[in-house]
Order: sequence, then C-alpha cells, then structure tokens
Amino acid sequence: MSKPVYLGELLLYWCPACNVPVLGKKCSCGNITQKVSITPPGDIRPAFAHDIEHINAVSQEQFGQPLVPDDRIVVLNKAPYDDRMDEIIVDGQVIASIRFEVDRLKWVLLPRLAGARRLFQGKDLSKLKNWVILDRSALQFIVKGANVLAPGIENADPDICELDEAVVLTPDKEVVATGRARMSGERMLERERGVGVKTRWKGMPEEQATPSGGQTWDDVVRANEDILDTFIEKGHQFIENVAATVKRPVSVSYSGGKDSLAMLQLVDECLDDYDILFADTGLEFPETLENVTMIGDRYNKPIRSISVGDAFWRSVDDFGPPAMEARWCCKVCKLGPITQLIEDNYENGCLTFIGQRKYESEARARSERVWKNPWVGNQIGASPIQDWTALHVWLYIFKHDLPYNPLYEQGYDRIGCWLCPSSSLADLVRLKKTHPRREARLTQYLLEYAKQRGLSSQWVEYGLWRWKKLPLTMATLASDHGINVIPTHDPEQELTFAQTSGYRPCKEGGMSAEGSFNTAVDLSRLETTGMLRVVGKVLYIEGVASVSHDEDRAQVFASGTLTTRSDTEHRAKELMHRVELSVRRGLKCMGCGVCVGKCPNNAITIRNGMACIDSICDQCGRCLNVCPVVKFGSVGHGE
Ligand code: SF4
Ligand code: SF4
Ligand SMILES: [Zn+2]
Repeated sequence: MSKPVYLGELLLYWCPACNVPVLGKKCSCGNITQKVSITPPGDIRPAFAHDIEHINAVSQEQFGQPLVPDDRIVVLNKAPYDDRMDEIIVDGQVIASIRFEVDRLKWVLLPRLAGARRLFQGKDLSKLKNWVILDRSALQFIVKGANVLAPGIENADPDICELDEAVVLTPDKEVVATGRARMSGERMLERERGVGVKTRWKGMPEEQATPSGGQTWDDVVRANEDILDTFIEKGHQFIENVAATVKRPVSVSYSGGKDSLAMLQLVDECLDDYDILFADTGLEFPETLENVTMIGDRYNKPIRSISVGDAFWRSVDDFGPPAMEARWCCKVCKLGPITQLIEDNYENGCLTFIGQRKYESEARARSERVWKNPWVGNQIGASPIQDWTALHVWLYIFKHDLPYNPLYEQGYDRIGCWLCPSSSLADLVRLKKTHPRREARLTQYLLEYAKQRGLSSQWVEYGLWRWKKLPLTMATLASDHGINVIPTHDPEQELTFAQTSGYRPCKEGGMSAEGSFNTAVDLSRLETTGMLRVVGKVLYIEGVASVSHDEDRAQVFASGTLTTRSDTEHRAKELMHRVELSVRRGLKCMGCGVCVGKCPNNAITIRNGMACIDSICDQCGRCLNVCPVVKFGSVGHGE
C-alpha cells in the first residue's frame, strides 16, 4: 500500500447536534464539531445515490445485508491504494472502506468495527454471510491484536471462501474484529491448524450508537454556511486582486468538471468581462460536451473552443497506447490545442483562471496559486480554489444549484479524457457499463496491439498497458498470474535509426560519421515542413538535403542515409542526433501545435496538419525536445 501523503490540513469534522459533516471546528448551528480521523490527503467528497447503491450492493453480496441506511449523509474519502479506494464516513465515523482489488478484478468492502456492528449486532445470523464466532477462551487474544486461529473458532458461515472479508463475533454475537479469511468456512469448522482470519480491525465489544438520520445535503450546506462564506470571500478577493494586477484579458478554463464549474461561478460573481475557454481533446465524454453547451447558456458567455477531433486515433499507431510515464496524448490532444486557442484569441496573452486544487495531487499541492504557463507564451494561470477540498467545491455547487456534469452521479469522481492512462482500472471497468462503445473501441485497439507484439490478452484485461515500466505491485501481479508483459516481437512499423560507422577523421579536417534510417526519407515532406532549419541552412538538390551551420555539415539522402561532419567527435555526434530528431519530427509530425508556443521567434505555424518552420528560425532548438514525436516516438512497452 502506498504511503499516506499530506497535501493540506485534514478538514473533516462532524456536528454531533446536526449529524452532518462540517469543514471546520464550528458548525453554523453554534456547536463545536468533532474531528473525524481520515487517511490523508483527505480530499473528501459527498457520496451520491449511485455511490451508496454500489456500496450496498457490494455489502449485500459479501455479508447478505446493505451497509448504509437510506436516510444518511455519506462522505467518501479517497485513500492511497494501488487502484480506487474510498473510506466511507457515516454519522461522523469511518465505518468501512471500499476498494477495487486488481488481482481479483472486483470491488471489496472492508468494514471497520463500527460498520461490522451496523451489519451484525443484534441481527439474525442465519440470514447473514461471512461471520465467524469465537470460542470464548480466544476472545482476550483477539482484542489484543492476534489473528483468529482456526482451533479458536466455535462456529462459522460454512460458505466463507478463502480471501473473503470476514466479521468476527463473540459467542454473544458482539463484533470484536474484522479481517480477511485465510481458509474456507468449512476448514474453519473442521478446526484445522493455522490462521482462520487475519484480523485488521479489533476491539472490545461495544454498543453501536446510531444518531438519528433524515439529514439532506441542504442541511449540510446550511451547517457549513459560515465556513463556506469565508472561502468564497477569499476566492473573490484573490480573483479581483489577480485581475487588477495582471491587467490582461481574463479567461476561465472550463473542462466540464466540478472544480472548473465552482471556479467559473466564483469568477462570475466578481467579474463581468471574461471568456470561457474549452479545449476538446476528442476524448471527452458526450455528457461533458453537453454540459459545456449548457454552461455557455447559463452564464450567457460565448465559449471559445477548439477541438482536435480524432487526433488521438490518428496518432496512436505511431506512439502506441499512452502510458502514465508517456502521456503523449496530453501534448497532442490537450496542450497543443490550448496553445493554439490562446494564440488565436489573445495576441498579447491572457490571464486564465484554472480550477486546480492542492488536495488533488502532490504536483498541484506544490504549485503556486499564480503561475506563468511554461508552454503557452503569455498565459498567466491562477487558481482561486487552490485550498478547497472536493467537499468545499460540492457544497458551493449545491448552494447555487449549478448544473454539474451528470457523470458524477454514475460513480466517476474525476472527469477528463475517457481513456486516460492515469484512470484507475475500476474506472475503466465502469466505462464498459456507462459507455460500452467507447470501451469496446479501446479494448479492441489494445488487444490488436498486444496480439501483434505477442503480449497476453490479460495485459489488456488487468490494465497493464497503462505503464511502460510496471510498478512493483503490478509487476508482482503479472508474475503471479503468468502474464507476459515483454513484447516477443515488433510489428516493425517504427522508424529506427542506427549509426553505421564510427567517427572518422576526414580529409578536409574534423570528424565525420554515418548512419541510416530503416526506410527511405521523404525529402519533399522535410522541405515542406522546414524541420531541418532547426539544425541550420538547408539546400535541397537531387535527392539530398544538405544542412550547414558554422563548421557543421550534414547530408540527408532520400535513401535514408545520413552523414555528418564537425570539428570534434562530440560535435559530430550531437549534430547527428539533432538531424535524426529533426527528420523524425518532419516525417511524423501530427500537427499537435505544442512546439508553436515554445518558439521565441514565432517561426512555427501549423499548415495542413503539419508544423512548418519558417526561415526566421535561429536554431535555438527549443521546439525540438518538446515535440511528442521526439519525446515519445521510439519508446515501446516493456522496454
Ligand atoms: S523554437 Fe528555435 S529552433 Fe524551433 S523554430 Fe523557433 S527559433 Fe527555430
Ligand atoms: S513538430 Fe510541433 S506540431 Fe508537429 S508533432 Fe512536434 S510538437 Fe507537434
Ligand atoms: Zn450543527
């Protein structure tokens, strides 16, 4: 399990009088609240009806009984884990966790004592599942932390399977522990030697107090009114200050997600003049696109948008499936179009409010509240909701009854591209239910990719395609399940380059070297794109492109051969590398536009879906290494 990460203060409290969550030490009713102990980072959020149904369905299947009563406010807290895991908070207590276990490809509910008491205490065991009754003599050892040994078991549900979550009771049917069964119920009943239940939570028998229910989210909004007002006011001040200081046209980046919605509302409350920006990655959920249109109407603002259409599917054959460490799609489908959007609309740059929050990730927690976008020339980014948890965002959305994306009511807690490699496997499995056609397209592509490379279909099933290099837990899972994750062959469409000679002194002085691409080079495409200008002055004559810069000389032949000469071996090597990358870029550019904003001389324009470099290029080289073709072009899975 991953280590807990603190990204900010843990802000979940509970008002005992109102029986609702409060984001601070005092409820609006005047009562002092009680701290709820949750796992950091603590980006708490409301459970929607769908979340509660899901929890209850899993609980019903495991224990024969739903966990959460209908009339309760439920808060979820995303906890660090290999895949999705949420702590479930009801009546001011963490009563269980629910997580997607990748090796079993299923959701599992892990009740704590408070949850197990709700399920079992005072109930008729004949209708319940996965219970174990201790022999009275074993009780004192279990409450002190020991595992339940099979000989210490008086009775058990015979249908328990190994690895099921089990609840341990005293002979008087009081809950004293929960944990994972290490053998079947039948073997427990035979009192075999060994551990019957590996306990996780344990404690002395206790009555389960349940405060009265019936609260609604409106009650929660009311209880948080004072705290929320303080956050809102700070947000307004921030927006007004930044807008007054930066003095550029103001835009709001809207993504269709809850954070950008809350931020848009905040901006709208204090500024009249702003635009809404939306970059359509071509991988948006249909619900997101509908929501964006709805938002334009509600705020009565034109939406400045750009769409890359099916850029992802046009590029995927060149790059392979995107991976956590190689999210080429972010550049091709997101960064490129955003750059373009800003360049097209704001000649002298703009200020963009962006709904990013520190509780989302370490990178975001480290980020400033105002920053200069390193990718898009002249864009200043600023986040007015940097310190908000997801619960602040939701309460603010509920307070104003804002039209949020309906996907949140289908179990999604983050909304972005539907096939993002940073999605959990749980999200990808859910996609099959919510958007089956999209899921089928992705799976079909991945299976074909795997087949061509001799990878097992389980590489797709277990979501292992999401990494170039598997994290330890996933590598262990692959080895346990006998899944081949190393390609056995390469379908050979990749452009490769090899140096064919060592560095040799040449007659005219200096050092020379030779190399070759595995295919002929389309020189007319190189000429149209002007990519070799990044290396030097270029002359195209009869099947050869000759490049010169100071003492450096390089020649690219249509046959795929490349020669370079420079005064030292080191420089000849660098030159060869730079020419190789420029050729790659020229041949494989998919017009993403990422390089456009990087050029200090405005030398790059996108024409006919390709980047074209003008003669004003001064060879600074900034556009070269940012290009996804150069960055991700030649890295295969399993390497
Ligand atoms: S970024 Fe530098 S190398 Fe690239 S086109 Fe612009 S001036 Fe030329
Ligand atoms: S050359 Fe520019 S537009 Fe083309 S793929 Fe590279 S970064 Fe994108
Ligand atoms: Zn209260």
